[in-house]
Amino acid sequence: MNQQTSENFAQNARVALQDTTLRGALKNLAKTFGGRRKTAISSVENWEELREKARSIKDETLLHLDKYLEKFAENAEKAGAKIHWARDGKEACQIVLDLINTKNAVHVVKSKSMATEEIHLNHALENSGIEPVETDLGEWIIQLAEETPSHIVVPAIHKTKKQIAELFVEKVGIAPTEDVDVLTKTARNILRSKFAEAEIGISGVNFGVAETGTILILENEGNARLTTSLPKTHIAVMGIEKIIPKFTDLDVFLKLLPRSGTGQKLTTYQSLITGTKQNANGEGPEEVHIVLMDNGRSKMLAHPVTRQSLACIRCGACLNACPVYQQIGGHAYGSVYPGPIGAVITPQLVGIGKTKQLPYASSLCGACREVCPVKIDIPGLLLHLRAEITEGEANGKKSDSEAKGKFAESLAFKVYSIAWGNAGTYKFGTKTARFMQKAVAKNGKIGKVSNLMAKIAPPLGNWTEFRDAPTIAPKSFRDIWAEGLKEDLPANERE
Ligand code: SF4
Repeated sequence: MNQQTSENFAQNARVALQDTTLRGALKNLAKTFGGRRKTAISSVENWEELREKARSIKDETLLHLDKYLEKFAENAEKAGAKIHWARDGKEACQIVLDLINTKNAVHVVKSKSMATEEIHLNHALENSGIEPVETDLGEWIIQLAEETPSHIVVPAIHKTKKQIAELFVEKVGIAPTEDVDVLTKTARNILRSKFAEAEIGISGVNFGVAETGTILILENEGNARLTTSLPKTHIAVMGIEKIIPKFTDLDVFLKLLPRSGTGQKLTTYQSLITGTKQNANGEGPEEVHIVLMDNGRSKMLAHPVTRQSLACIRCGACLNACPVYQQIGGHAYGSVYPGPIGAVITPQLVGIGKTKQLPYASSLCGACREVCPVKIDIPGLLLHLRAEITEGEANGKKSDSEAKGKFAESLAFKVYSIAWGNAGTYKFGTKTARFMQKAVAKNGKIGKVSNLMAKIAPPLGNWTEFRDAPTIAPKSFRDIWAEGLKEDLPANERE
């Protein structure tokens, strides 16, 4: 089991950077998914319009979420589903557990669901003696490995083919092979028998349509369809933000989500479920239960800046585009939601206290915002959370070492402000730095500095630990200008 926590993000990231197997597994992430995404979106003429439309649908829904939730619940119940409301993850787990116990069920299958990962449903069920079987291939692999997902769309992306092959030998007992066909057939045979005996199927939800009470589940393997149709009882766990107003809104999101996530025009399966089967000879489950879960979402909803976090449709595109995620993978974030969107929602879901390194896990390059199909301003949200952290720290009680660190930081910024606020001190400062850098610069760059220098100038130490710092130019622009550059300009542009 992945024991890394968000509290130790910086340390986890360092370990991940040294892990050559992990780096190997992640190396094609951006190229594969990013490349496929580009090709897929080029087939849509009005891509930007679609993004705008999706965002406005989400904004309108979130502004009136209470109304749409009630409408969804009413229509789903009319169609035969039973709605359950859960304030938090604990309540949601208890509702699922009670439903399983009422049915005296022991065989439970699950399809991929981030909402159930978020509330650690599998642990809650296992602690009560029920062993749910994950049926998505990636989820099943990490369940066998006793790990957590490292990506919201491709949960086992951190594993190489060799590691998966070894896992199958150890846990399933097959002869060693790296033949993907043999591995997938093995998984399929085992999982088919699990579907056949399951009394309960648990799924997540991609979208809930208020107008009809329908839920939509997208997938590529057919396992979600089997999970939601073969067992007599289907339980869907859904965050309250998954609601959209109208059935026709799906047209917008179905064009955006698969293209953004996996670079597909459409996922292989789209299961639309409206209530239970309508007669004894019909298909589908006899009972459908939908657990509508808040778990911190109302708090995000209350603030105009954080509200946009709830527009996320969990496509994973921001993870694939993020230069930080590409290097360290998902486990370092210590949360089921990694990458840029994880750095935004994890502190809001579990509290900022133990997750305050996450909003800093970004270079703010904006690649996440560029690819987000619902135009979430992730860098803006990260800055908002950073400001909250700084304000909290400014108002809170600090340990001695934190207080010393803050004092040194504020002194450094004061000196910087004085030096850069006056032409004389600025000139003196750059001249001195130009001279001093000779001690550490080589070939126009400053490589990893010594421990002593890292202590004297911590920012330089941190920066050069993993990359070179550029040196100050031998001459400033003012010097070059004074030496005659201005003579090259037309007379009217010299001042
Ligand atoms: S924030 Fe945007 S890009 Fe990232 S997972 Fe959510 S919808 Fe996709």
